[in-house]
Amino acid sequence: MSDNKIYDCIIAGAGPAGMTAAVYTSRAKMDTLMIEKGLPGGQMTKTEDIENYPGFESILGPDLSKMMFEHSKKFGADFARGEIKEIKDGYPLKTVIMDDREYKAKSIIIATGAEHRCLGIPGEKELSGFGVSYCAVCDGAFFEDQELVVVGGGDSAVEEAIFLTRFATKVTIIHRRDQLRAQKIIQKRAFDNEKIDFIWNHTVEEILGDGLVTGVIIKDKNTGETREFPCNGVFIYVGMDPITNCVNGLGITNEDGYIVVDGDMKTRIKGIFSAGDVNEKKLRQVITATGDGSIAALSAQHYVENLDEERKEMEMEVQYGNAGY
Ligand code: NAP
Repeated sequence: MSDNKIYDCIIAGAGPAGMTAAVYTSRAKMDTLMIEKGLPGGQMTKTEDIENYPGFESILGPDLSKMMFEHSKKFGADFARGEIKEIKDGYPLKTVIMDDREYKAKSIIIATGAEHRCLGIPGEKELSGFGVSYCAVCDGAFFEDQELVVVGGGDSAVEEAIFLTRFATKVTIIHRRDQLRAQKIIQKRAFDNEKIDFIWNHTVEEILGDGLVTGVIIKDKNTGETREFPCNGVFIYVGMDPITNCVNGLGITNEDGYIVVDGDMKTRIKGIFSAGDVNEKKLRQVITATGDGSIAALSAQHYVENLDEERKEMEMEVQYGNAGY
């Protein structure tokens, strides 16, 4: 099935980057379609408190997602649900291929974000959903009065460990180094929290359980010794991987899979822009994603305006020949 409409801009992904881009493109009167496979909001939907988005001292991630989503549609952007299989370049039209339909657009903004990374250890896959989780906001409440392990030392691991202390009697952060990567303010909250313990310089080698998690095997990086550490649940926060399967054929990613853009959010392909966590960059936050989204939208707008001019000139050339008209 194919939608005959030609969009000025299709936005792949409805996280903070995509939703901001939709506000900007549709407000600039571009025919806009935003496509999302899951819940609008991206990682915000899995975040409890957001306290570094200006204007909101503290707001629940799902609440900010809902507000942004309503805002993103306010100026007339269309919204479609589904997974994008492939984005194909073309001039003047690009094609977005879904399982059951295709869309055409003059410009594309990729804002597909990133997803949690797995540890790839025995027991992880088998016990996923049975004590192994990647989302404290979704699953934390199942662990009332239980003992939990959080793996990782970044913002996500430490913030979510703090969140999990609402339910758990004890949360142990197991980190592979002797220092956290998380922001200092978040670290301090964890160090001050009586329910949080740390195991430094250890890796998790295996997750144990028969139907439900019963513990983990951890390894001391200095001595090489392994031991069993009992727990009822394991929350894994060891970083993110960019979601780029739909652009694999375009050659716009770096060796780690992130999309390479310039300061205007332009990829190396004309008419294809990219914004948010899927991009190669230093700081991945809601605020940087929204900033990227606005810049990508403006670049897409300029590109489409020039494209329309170019097309008119080409039509004139065909009609009158290229003889000084
Ligand atoms: P991250 O910053 O990449 O941290 C990943 C953590 O997992 C690091 O501590 C890393 O250890 C550890 N790790 C990686 N691979 C591992 C492995 N195989 N085994 C054991 N440990 C491993 O990822 P994140 O915490 O998910 O954050 C992603 C991005 O979102 C970051 O840019 C972060 O700042 C941002 N974020 C911001 C907020 C906020 O502002 N409130 C909240 C959440 C996330 P090393 O430290 O040794 O590398």
